[in-house]
Amino acid sequence: MSNDPRRPQGGHRPGGRPPMNAAQMRRRRRQRRARRIFHLLTRLAVLGLVAGGVVFVGSRFQIQAARAQQARDEAAAASAAAASSAAAALHEQAASSAARAQAAAEAAAILADPRMVLVNHDTPMPEDYTFDTKECGSSLSINDTLQTEAADAFLAMQAAAADDGVTVWMQSGYRSVEYQTTLYDNKTQQYLNQGYDEATARQMAANVVNPPRYSEHNCGLAADLNCPEYTTLDEGFENTEAFAWLCEHAVDYGFILRYPKGEQAEAVTEITYEPWHWRYVGPENAARIQASGLIFEEYIAQLQAAAAAA
Ligand SMILES: [Zn+2]
Repeated sequence: MSNDPRRPQGGHRPGGRPPMNAAQMRRRRRQRRARRIFHLLTRLAVLGLVAGGVVFVGSRFQIQAARAQQARDEAAAASAAAASSAAAALHEQAASSAARAQAAAEAAAILADPRMVLVNHDTPMPEDYTFDTKECGSSLSINDTLQTEAADAFLAMQAAAADDGVTVWMQSGYRSVEYQTTLYDNKTQQYLNQGYDEATARQMAANVVNPPRYSEHNCGLAADLNCPEYTTLDEGFENTEAFAWLCEHAVDYGFILRYPKGEQAEAVTEITYEPWHWRYVGPENAARIQASGLIFEEYIAQLQAAAAAA
């Protein structure tokens, strides 16, 4: 360096740099300024990066935290919704099962009502079905009693009809199982006498006279009604004032027309239309059956289904 031809040889301090001329000093100041600016810029840049990084990282944290919070909120909301929906479903299930249980209990109670006993070709009167009877028949009647409650209901109905100027008579009510047995056996004997074998004779007799316990008259709730103007028990009774009055008012006293007219009804009851045969079930039951529009067999079947659905 000391041999550098560009450097002035004299005037330099030992161990130091040779003195600079003005141009060199200006260059040096420019260089220092440039370096300061460079450092400053560098520091600013570093600070900026750091700050940016902090902001960036911070915002990353914030975003992540916000996302996590949102996820938690959503999960909580979903969980609450699920719980609420499950609770609602359970509530609904409980309500509908409670309603079903109640309907079943009501149906079972109606079925257990002795006034609702079903007696027909397929269903005999239960062995343990017992009751008291009371007279309510006309002077021309053959079997002049009904179950006591049914007899009282008939007498009240008869009085109400009389108030309206209509006479209704009870022609045939309760028939004991013994009486029914005699009727059935006599009919069977007629066919046996004609040369039929026992089984055939009984089958043929059953088409005319119900076997014991299979007649609704055995349960004391069936009443064959007529009137002074028409004492025959046949379809002609439907043209009487008495029948018209019964169709309008009998339900209020607990009686229903048991074997209605029409192919559909007759297919259900398996009995040809009998306008004279009325069945006591009690006013509440009669109203329910009438409201349902169902034949007695159908109504009983509906109750059995409801009772079994609990
Ligand atoms: Zn009858």
